[in-house]
Amino acid sequence: MKILLVYPEYPETFWSFKYALKFISKKASLPPLGLLTVAALLPKEWEKKLVDMTITALFDRDIKWADYIFISAMSIQKESVKKIITQCKRLGTKIVAGGPLFTSGYPEYPETFWSFKYALKFISKKASLPPLGLLTVAALLPEDWEKKLVDMTVTVLIDRDIKWADYVFISAMSIQKESVKKIIAQCKRLGAKIVAGGPLFTSGYEDFEDDVDYFILNEAEITLPLFLEDLERGHLKHIYTSDQWVDLKKTPIPLWKLADINKYATMCIQYSRGCPFNCDFCDVTLLFGHKMRLKTKDQILVELESLYLRGWRGGVFIVDDNFIGNKRELKCEVLPAIINWMEERKYPFSFTTQASINLSDDEELIQLMVQAGFGSVFVGIETPNEESLAECNKLQNKNRDLIACVKKIQRFGLIVNGGFIMGFDNDTPAIFERLIEFIQKKWNCQRHGRAIKRSSRHQTLPATC
Ligand code: SF4
Repeated sequence: MKILLVYPEYPETFWSFKYALKFISKKASLPPLGLLTVAALLPKEWEKKLVDMTITALFDRDIKWADYIFISAMSIQKESVKKIITQCKRLGTKIVAGGPLFTSGYPEYPETFWSFKYALKFISKKASLPPLGLLTVAALLPEDWEKKLVDMTVTVLIDRDIKWADYVFISAMSIQKESVKKIIAQCKRLGAKIVAGGPLFTSGYEDFEDDVDYFILNEAEITLPLFLEDLERGHLKHIYTSDQWVDLKKTPIPLWKLADINKYATMCIQYSRGCPFNCDFCDVTLLFGHKMRLKTKDQILVELESLYLRGWRGGVFIVDDNFIGNKRELKCEVLPAIINWMEERKYPFSFTTQASINLSDDEELIQLMVQAGFGSVFVGIETPNEESLAECNKLQNKNRDLIACVKKIQRFGLIVNGGFIMGFDNDTPAIFERLIEFIQKKWNCQRHGRAIKRSSRHQTLPATC
């Protein structure tokens, strides 16, 4: 057996000592101790060679010589690792990878607060949530089609997966745009047909028009069947779109069997789409409209039961953008049904969701949510600056004591995760101090709950203000 041990290049940082090393006529500062130790663990009779790319180049002839390429790397060497992998794939050589870079995963969300990159390690999970949209799309496809899910927050997309498929379905949010471009390039290189949908493409498919074969825009329950009919007839169009809103009673249960649920911190379900409000930075009403569309209580119980039967116990995020958009239905039908279901099964789940601040106006609703097993709620507070609230049309937050509202929700037993925005036209430099005071002193988040500052960069989507 011939083993080539490869240590990737470093980019130019302080620690590469690129210029300092020249003064002492050395090529690199340290040998790759990890790889040399791995080499010592391999059978003695195997032939071994080391290519330390901080010292020398990796040639095709080195790779061709080997039966297996062993790569060890740190995160800083990621770009070099990608090139080595491409080179090995081209030459058809098998790769064995280890070390900190691979042990810590391969995130395909950029590193933001919401990727929870570091927090997930504490609970030994790969990603926070499974891709609910794609799993729902999978359930809409013909039953006799073979399907595989590659969630790149959990695993790597390899050429073999793409070659296996007749069509590659991609769904993504705007934050995943860079990863999407790479997937598209990979599919194009392999000649795979691409079908794309979801928020990124619905709000800006034009950016991908030349590269994606078929767009399934807006709500897939309406547009995907049109694509499937045309596929059957052999006359596919480039774009499938609709200005109709689907009745959520027609939405199927996500095809959970495609996901390895143990890799995720939380499961998710959707109860409603739409929001009665009209905050002008938000694309929810653009994508889903103002009229609340709801699943029935029976649908919700069936979805919860499907997760329960797959063995899930723990957190369930109800992904609705505004869970309380129809309070009456929640109070009379859905929450009482969830309370019974949870009691009968001895509380297997804890729920979290998103709601507007007017949740604090309805004590009965908060109490029912707590009784049903809700532990926290994300609320868009945005800003204590009344002029900025008016500017972004967040009228439901205006003319109220936001701190008192938050404290009231907390008193009933819900943790409030607050979302904040800075940088409105009406904000002055004083907004920084004002927000700090609002969150730390008035909210008193150390004692009564958490305030999560939504520190991600806001992206204005086409057709939002
Ligand atoms: S309340 Fe929330 S979901 Fe509704 S429009 Fe405003 S930001 Fe969007």
